[in-house]
Amino acid sequence: MNEHALSSETHDYPYPDSKGRYGAYGGKFVPETLMPALTELEDAYNRAKDDEAFQRRLRRYQKDYIGRPTPLFFAERFTNRLGGARVYFKREDLAHTGAHKINNALGQVLLAQAMGKERIIAETGAGQHGVATATAAAQVGLECDVYMGEEDMARQELNVFRMRLLGARVIPVTAGSRTLKDAINESIRDWVTNIGNTHYVLGTVHGPHPYPMICRDFQKIIGEETRRQLQEKEGRLPDVLLACVGGGSNSIGLFFDFLGDPGVRMIGVEAGGFGIDTQRHAARFAGGVQGTLHGAMSYVLQDIHGQILGTHSVSAGLDYPSVGPEHAYLHGAGRVQYVYANDDEALEGFQLVSRLEGIIPALESAHAIGHAVKIVPAMKPDEIVVINMSGRGDKDVQQATRFINPAKEDL
Ligand SMILES: *Cc1c(COP(=O)(O)O)cnc(C)c1O
Repeated sequence: MNEHALSSETHDYPYPDSKGRYGAYGGKFVPETLMPALTELEDAYNRAKDDEAFQRRLRRYQKDYIGRPTPLFFAERFTNRLGGARVYFKREDLAHTGAHKINNALGQVLLAQAMGKERIIAETGAGQHGVATATAAAQVGLECDVYMGEEDMARQELNVFRMRLLGARVIPVTAGSRTLKDAINESIRDWVTNIGNTHYVLGTVHGPHPYPMICRDFQKIIGEETRRQLQEKEGRLPDVLLACVGGGSNSIGLFFDFLGDPGVRMIGVEAGGFGIDTQRHAARFAGGVQGTLHGAMSYVLQDIHGQILGTHSVSAGLDYPSVGPEHAYLHGAGRVQYVYANDDEALEGFQLVSRLEGIIPALESAHAIGHAVKIVPAMKPDEIVVINMSGRGDKDVQQATRFINPAKEDL
């Protein structure tokens, strides 16, 4: 059977529409000055999509540089421990740089090069997207400037060093709370000013159209591979797909190819932080409202005056006050269920998979594991769950030492 016949692209999924909307969500909520840049990007992307030479180059980089396809691994000891469905891990942690972010960063950098841009800019919070972008820019030889809040730079010294080692310039942002949302504002300002030679690599499926679409398209290879790999191993579709949701790129990457398969349940796991009642979390669906942030209509954590609320998660990658607009649509349509796992549950998943499988997951991915611990035991042994292991946890061990003591924990 050819790949296409197995893919949900044969189903009718109309989003985004011609206005860049996903039902009531998405769009381009940006100043007039940004519109030409977005149009130029959309046109270039549509050309690249149909350009066989571009696609061949992308596939070669995916295979020989990122290391795709990433394995689909049967987690036998974890499965036996939970005593329900069979659990597989999609090993994005084995992608170059240790997470799925490189899929999007590399795709966008190749796109920038095809557009004739000489300079890349990016924003970063914890530094993971900055590192992925600096990596891709180094590989193809483009100049790279990364905006990062001063506060985040202090918290993530190692990633600042990595980006500089990779040849990027890290520009401190001193405005506002000196964190991610301020870095995004600075990136947009830079892009408007330098649109002639600069491409802005946005790190997740958020922002104004066409970004959520472009990022999704570069990430959907995760689900396409999963479908093929599970077909080989089990000869059928999964019953449940589980992925953590920050901005929403690794989750939509896993889910997208299965949207047209009604028998496949999909669950996105947000960060419950200290708990939904504490106001210290990043669960946009459970605790947020509809609103616009960074150019898109979606769900946002904000107060009744529209002020963006502070968020908290033990994992930096899930600590963001909004979520990609396509997720808002899939939530409203009831196609994907959104739940949350608290810090404690994520830390338990982090330790459990480290100990049972010899795989230290990213604290972000550990949220999906935390939810698996809740639902898998009640499932049937012939059912199949795929968890997206969005990244490896080496970056998180320092953070984890503040909360857990593996020698003493009895799991
Ligand atoms: C950044 C990150 C996430 C969250 O981002 P999404 O766009 O929601 O995927 C999840 N896992 C890892 C390992 C990350 O680095």
